[in-house]
Amino acid sequence: MDPLFLRTRVGSFEVNLLQDGFYRLDGGAMFGVVPKVVWEKRYPADELNRIRLGLDSLLVRAPGALVLIEAGIGSALGEKEIQMFAVEQPHPLPERLEAIGVKPEDIDHVVLTHLNFDHIGHCTRRLPGGTFVPTFPKARYHVQKEEMDFALAPPRRLRASYPLDAIRPVEEAGLWVLHEGPAEVVPGIRLLPTGGHTPGHQVVLVESGGETLVFWGDLVPTSRHLDPGYGMAYDLFPLRVLEQRGALVGRGADEGWIHTFPHEPEMHFLRVKRGKKYFETEPIEPA
Ligand SMILES: [Zn+2]
Repeated sequence: MDPLFLRTRVGSFEVNLLQDGFYRLDGGAMFGVVPKVVWEKRYPADELNRIRLGLDSLLVRAPGALVLIEAGIGSALGEKEIQMFAVEQPHPLPERLEAIGVKPEDIDHVVLTHLNFDHIGHCTRRLPGGTFVPTFPKARYHVQKEEMDFALAPPRRLRASYPLDAIRPVEEAGLWVLHEGPAEVVPGIRLLPTGGHTPGHQVVLVESGGETLVFWGDLVPTSRHLDPGYGMAYDLFPLRVLEQRGALVGRGADEGWIHTFPHEPEMHFLRVKRGKKYFETEPIEPA
């Protein structure tokens, strides 16, 4: 199944779930200490032990503002990376937006949970001559300052995770908005710093008419990670993930939030409730 988008409503906001495509990561790295015999039942591994994951973004139509949350893996990866991550991209994010009548210059805000390569790919696009320019020329791009500081000077081993071609041209155009702590992008779209996966990671809350939707970023990359035992080996601060995830997912279950994830392989808006063991999910019928 490859739907162009799913749609739901959050109060007076309309929210589209859009997929930049799929990629594959090592199943062991995705599920940390959880044994393969447990995770492979739901996420079958290929011959290279990789599992197929989504690359999801949200488009929120708030009153007077179009807000894109997360910018996918992009279209600028080299052949080697495309092979390594088995990137499948029948319709990159800008095409998905176009299919629902949204042009790049229509986007007012781009919100990023963090600055890893698989979340910021379409922040910029490559011109035929090879230079990169912001994909969304009229947008303000939002991230935590702590994340930006880390992305610009990461430890050597992590450098490949922070592609500067997706960051610098936005800076040169003066489009970054660097937040220091919780913030509101437009009324009803709130940023909540969590750290954990990366130093300045944040989750995004969309609130309208008494309803709340959360985009988890890599604090909860797939619905399977709602279970607190499922940490990723990619998490830079695992204990922080455990603590933040435990508190926020519990709150989301108790308050009836709609849950969305960046790497869920199948597109769903989910409700989460407390179950016998941890949490149980149930898909919401798209609007
Ligand atoms: Zn990710």
